[in-house]
Amino acid sequence: MLTVKTFTFNPVQENTYLLYNEKGDCCIIDPGCYFPAEREELRKVIADAGWTPVLLLNTHCHLDHVFGNKFIHDTFRLDLHLHKLEEKLLAYAPTSGEKWGLPFENYQGPLVFFEPGEKIRLGEDELDILFTPGHSPGSVSFYNKRDGFVIGGDVLFNGSIGRTDLPGGDFDTLVNSIHTQLFTLPDSTRVYSGHGPETTIGHEKINNPFVKIK
Ligand SMILES: [Zn+2]
Ligand SMILES: [Zn+2]
Repeated sequence: MLTVKTFTFNPVQENTYLLYNEKGDCCIIDPGCYFPAEREELRKVIADAGWTPVLLLNTHCHLDHVFGNKFIHDTFRLDLHLHKLEEKLLAYAPTSGEKWGLPFENYQGPLVFFEPGEKIRLGEDELDILFTPGHSPGSVSFYNKRDGFVIGGDVLFNGSIGRTDLPGGDFDTLVNSIHTQLFTLPDSTRVYSGHGPETTIGHEKINNPFVKIK
């Protein structure tokens, strides 16, 4: 079983997710920890719980989701897993940081790209990698069927959808991703987004003004 722990970090209020199993192995998704105190909080929660970080994943590489990649790499010796189409965004993130007054040191370690059809394994648990572009060119969502949740990055929010005015964004592509990749999941699936509170697929199908289908 995978349990989801949420942190909200940095001035953009980005959700960083930590998934852990019964053995205490954990996976860190989109570490947005920017300030030293945020990094210390994340490190301490992991240390106090006795968890062992074994995977570092990005749903996509906008700066608010990658601030802490280097910290996680340096602290836990983990290489970054991401979609190949996010490589350019990752490289651009420090420039974007300068523009926003949020300079940071980028991750410089190996890049491990997702393979088509690949599943992420954490012990006995699995995450399907759903290709959900539109907010950014290589956005992916991580779906755990057994426990019924998806970590969706900035694709679908509680009552909203990701912005599509950033480089590589496209509205029709985003709506298509939501309809074909996310709204085909069971209604009870919990959605953990890159910003804001969690929701469910069923709730968004009925209530989300941008993509509702009922
Ligand atoms: Zn984003
Ligand atoms: Zn974001």
